[in-house]
Amino acid sequence: MFRTLACAAALLGLFFAAPAAEAADDYLTPFPAHHVIANIYYVGSKGQANYLITTPQGNILINSGVEKSPAMIKRSIEKLGFKYGDTKILLISHAHFDHDAGSAKIIKDTGAKYEVMDADVPVVESGGKLDFNYGDKGGKNLYPPTKVDRVLHDGDTVSLGGTVLTAHKTPGHTKGCTTWTMQVRDGGKTLNVVFVGSPNVNPGYILVGNKKYPNIAQDYEKTFEILKSLPADVFLGAHGDYYGMDAKYAELTPGGPNPFIDADGYKAYIANREAAFRKKLAEQEAGGKL
Ligand SMILES: [Zn+2]
Repeated sequence: MFRTLACAAALLGLFFAAPAAEAADDYLTPFPAHHVIANIYYVGSKGQANYLITTPQGNILINSGVEKSPAMIKRSIEKLGFKYGDTKILLISHAHFDHDAGSAKIIKDTGAKYEVMDADVPVVESGGKLDFNYGDKGGKNLYPPTKVDRVLHDGDTVSLGGTVLTAHKTPGHTKGCTTWTMQVRDGGKTLNVVFVGSPNVNPGYILVGNKKYPNIAQDYEKTFEILKSLPADVFLGAHGDYYGMDAKYAELTPGGPNPFIDADGYKAYIANREAAFRKKLAEQEAGGKL
C-alpha cells in the first residue's frame, strides 16, 4: 500500500518537487534511527539524510547536516548502540548547508578525517562563501569554514575496516556533488548501494549563461549519464524524500523483505529528475522564467 503510493507519487514528481528551502523545517525534525542494510544505518532527521557505515575499525558518516544537527546525529548513533566518538571519516553528498554545516562540530567532537570532492573543497573551506549560487546570499547558506583533510577526485575510494566507498563526481547541483556507491552482502547476495548526491536543479539556478558556472548544463548532462549507468539495488540519497524514506521505513518488518532494495524506484527517480532538468533547461533556453 505505502509502496504503491510511494511509487505513484514518485512518478508524479510529488516527492521530488519540494525545493530545499521549503523542506528546511524538516531538517531538525527527528526521525527514528534505523538499520538500512548490512552495515549501513540511517542517523538523519526527517528532512535531511545522514548515514552511519560501521566497520570493525571505526565508522564512516555521510553528511553532517545543518549547524544544529550534530547533537541529533550523536543521539541517533548512540540509540543504535554505536559510539559517536568512533566516527573516523566524514563524507558529504555535496557542499550545501544542509549536508555540511555540522561538519566543523563533528570533526571537533570526534577527530574524524574530512574527505571531500575536489570542486566542493573551496566551498567547504570558505564556509559556503564560494558557492556559485548561494555564496552571496548569506544567512543559513553560510556556516563555519572547515578544513578538508583529503581532497577526493572522481573515482577515488574511501576504505575503512573492509568497507570501500567509491566517490562518483556528479556535478551540476554543486560543482563537486558526489554520489557514493558501495557493495554489501545481504541474504547471500552482493548488492550495489547508491547514495545519490543530488540531481536537482534548485529554484533560481541559472542553466544558460551562468557566469559563475558556465558549464553547469553540460555537468548535469554528464551527471545523468553517470547516474543511469550505475548499478543500483539499494536506493539511498542526500534527502529521504529522494527515495520515499518515510513510506519505506513504515514497511520495515523483522524478517520481511527490505524495502530499501528498490532498483525500479532508483531508475524511476533518475528518469523523473532528468525530465525535470530538461524541462527547466528548455524553458531557460526559450527565455522563460526561472
Ligand atoms: Zn543541495
